Amino acid sequence: MNFKSHLDEFEVFGKVAKAAANLGLETYVVGGYVRDLILKREKSGHKDIDFTCVGSGIELAKEVAKQYDTHVPLSVFKNFGTAMLKLEDWELEFVGARKESYRADSRNPIVETGTLQEDLERRDFTINAMAISLNANDYGELLDPFDGLADIKKKLIRTPLEPSITFSDDPLRMLRAVRFAAQLDFDIDGDTFHALSENAHRLSIISGERIVVELNKIIEVKKPSYGFKLLFAGKLLHEFFPEMVELQGVDSVDDKSHKDNFYHTLQVLDNVCLMSDNLWLRWAAILHDIAKPATKRFNKKVGWTFHGHEDKGARMTPNIFRRMKLPMDERMKYVQKLVKLHLRPIALVKDEVTDSAMRRLLFEAGDDIDDLMKLCRADVTSKNNKKVKRYLENFDKVAQKLIEVEEKDQVRNFQPPISGEEIMKIFGLEPSKIVGDIKEEIKEAILEGKIHNNPEQARELMLEIAKAKGLTLASNPPKS
Ligand code: ATP
Ligand code: MG
Repeated sequence: MNFKSHLDEFEVFGKVAKAAANLGLETYVVGGYVRDLILKREKSGHKDIDFTCVGSGIELAKEVAKQYDTHVPLSVFKNFGTAMLKLEDWELEFVGARKESYRADSRNPIVETGTLQEDLERRDFTINAMAISLNANDYGELLDPFDGLADIKKKLIRTPLEPSITFSDDPLRMLRAVRFAAQLDFDIDGDTFHALSENAHRLSIISGERIVVELNKIIEVKKPSYGFKLLFAGKLLHEFFPEMVELQGVDSVDDKSHKDNFYHTLQVLDNVCLMSDNLWLRWAAILHDIAKPATKRFNKKVGWTFHGHEDKGARMTPNIFRRMKLPMDERMKYVQKLVKLHLRPIALVKDEVTDSAMRRLLFEAGDDIDDLMKLCRADVTSKNNKKVKRYLENFDKVAQKLIEVEEKDQVRNFQPPISGEEIMKIFGLEPSKIVGDIKEEIKEAILEGKIHNNPEQARELMLEIAKAKGLTLASNPPKS
């Protein structure tokens, strides 16, 4: 197979080939770029190309930079023997061919210079171990020592060498196996998967930061349930996300069973993925029922219950985020909020629900109300299509009512109609608890629907509250 015509389409390959020839270095395009080219996989954003040469990648990168008239930013990573060039649409990475040997106690291999064959051997999967020559004698030719092309056709993830050695050398590769299977919708080869299950416990030497990078890539695919099923079957999930493993299983008492919350959660996750690419909404789907095992009770009258699982789940969220090295910022707060509120819209389905219940939900959810409604819709996983239809129609009604209430009272981004400062001026008060109490009473009255959310009504109420508290107006209060 020859890719000369593809290489000719882009100036960059010619420049690298020229630089390599100047230095007399055997040079190849390798790894993900070759794989994605064969798969005709379109990628958004800038594109990475990895180049391997038999010699110094850093020298090659410097020579490539010289081929351009304009300044090309070059970063050199001396410790790793790699260098990177940034062009407009491309990020070029240069590295010398290397062979690696591993010790049992560490992910860090002993690295020595090697041949192209040795370099491809140390790569994770056959589909990532192909190279395209940039050398004059066979320019554009595909080098595929491990039959990666055949595996692409068979849609198989397979290691180039003995899988248990590949995985025990670098356990992160097990997660990468699942990640590529999920991204490409490939199977993992039987022997490779067997070795993965046997080595799952070795994941313990991998840092949480690296694990979560791969995990998030699995979550970002079109249908992540497949990746999670592989993680579960290979017992990788057990190593870093035991709370999710706990969701699996069905208990029965007196012929009453509850649903399997692991598979339910995966269904919710897939559903939410049809509606949104937002990684954190996906995390909310993953965590929405995470406290069901901890809150599960059986009661002869009503069967299985999970009372308070939304609150407990919200309390578990920061701990899970911290342990998994997920960000502890507003993204965590967002996930926590959705977990906490995920049952609230269902409670609003009934006809007799008051506007004030609607206002309270809008107030608590704020701008995340639309995402919350998506999560609730995704949470409808009944196998009975009629039921699904009815539930979704109910959510349409709730969404419509929410819009109406919001139009009237704008509580979604609640701003107090009277500020603390105004209250202080009007009554000649210093910053104090009483100011906060007045503001709180006004807010409550708005949420309860006793007054509308406008300054006139709020001011009237404020005067009443103040009177009841025995406050008097300041000697020269500001005009309203
Ligand atoms: P992506 O599209 O996600 O960037 P990629 O295949 O380019 O996929 P990278 O992580 O960028 O993946 O790695 C580039 C190449 O380096 C891979 O194609 C593979 O050949 C090799 N590689 C990366 N990580 C490992 C690893 N842990 N073990 C062995 N080879 C690896
Ligand atoms: Mg890459």
